[in-house]
Amino acid sequence: MLTTIEGFDRIGEENAFAVLARATRLADEGRDIINLGIGQPDFRTPEHIVEAAIKALRDGHHGYTPATGILPLREAVAADIARRTGAEASPENVMIVPGGKVTMFMAILMFGAPGVDILYPDPGFPIYRSMIEFTGARPVPVPIRESNDFTFSAEETLELLTPQTRLLILNSPANPTGGVTPRAEIEKLVAGLADRPDIAILSDEIYGQMTYDGAEHCSLMGFEALRDRLILLDGWSKTYAMTGWRLGYAVWPEQLIDKARKLAVNAWSCVNAPAQFAGLAALTGPQDAVRDMMREFDMRRKLVVEGLNALPGVSARTPMGAFYAFPNISATGWQAKPLASALLEEAGVAVIGGPDFGTLGEGYIRLSYANSAENIARALTRMKLFLEEPQ
Ligand code: PLP
Repeated sequence: MLTTIEGFDRIGEENAFAVLARATRLADEGRDIINLGIGQPDFRTPEHIVEAAIKALRDGHHGYTPATGILPLREAVAADIARRTGAEASPENVMIVPGGKVTMFMAILMFGAPGVDILYPDPGFPIYRSMIEFTGARPVPVPIRESNDFTFSAEETLELLTPQTRLLILNSPANPTGGVTPRAEIEKLVAGLADRPDIAILSDEIYGQMTYDGAEHCSLMGFEALRDRLILLDGWSKTYAMTGWRLGYAVWPEQLIDKARKLAVNAWSCVNAPAQFAGLAALTGPQDAVRDMMREFDMRRKLVVEGLNALPGVSARTPMGAFYAFPNISATGWQAKPLASALLEEAGVAVIGGPDFGTLGEGYIRLSYANSAENIARALTRMKLFLEEPQ
């Protein structure tokens, strides 16, 4: 019998992967399953990005790179941040990582310990809480309410701070709600944090380029006052349809970048070289594919919201970012997780129950509209038939 450290008794996971496995199993058994469960674009990575990786391999980029990534890529990330947010980031503070998720792992590991409080969005990406629990820190949920357009209240967040708070995790545009935090709320939060320089902020902006109807993504990078304690999490997975490449980046504050670099040296040495050249082509090449994908997502977003609101007992706000809808299903008479499970098993539609994203997720399910308009329409018809049936 082996005894691992206590953290492994508390570590969680993403139920989206379990739903994907079950959906795949059912499909393998011959069932027609429509997958609205998984959070990854259904598009192929744009061709010029794929070509750049192939060229990098042909050109002999087969070895280790610096732990923080190749300099041209870090420079391109800094230039991209400047172009999009107006903020100056030094390539010396940029770190290329194997997927955006790795930055949350690193940041939570850096600050989490028994006796420490870490604030995180609820409902939110499940790995925040899982990693906080792993470290033994106290997870403090920041409520993300439908009545507040699925974003945090700065006032409520500031009230949750304790002398033990060391890290505050923010995510906008948000998974699983599609909420986008308005600039005014972020400004209020930043002002309220002025007298707490001991609190680091992890801003997960992986959906930062995915907003609709002209909604502004207000990057925390734009706030000079946070510069010495902001960790920016971003990457290529969603924007460029590159989830399987495992490529992400972070901007670390001066006082943490060397610690982050050492952690990388201890764990993965560097991100695989051809993927880094692909990431460089993504940032420096044409952006039309990104615009095309967003146009398609926007069209599906409208389809999903309209379809959901036509279902008995379901009401859905129009998400302003990412590619998720988070409808309220409390008037259907179903609990969220049994409903998600019944939709998969009986109607062949994979969705995720809201409680998989936190305690405030009860009463909601998450649908990812990273599937074709045709499949979305078929899924909505199946859901309608299912919900109209007497239980
Ligand atoms: N942050 C959020 C909010 C996400 O939804 C995801 C992926 O689903 C990630 C981070 C991780 O992205 P990556 O695939 O680059 O690790």
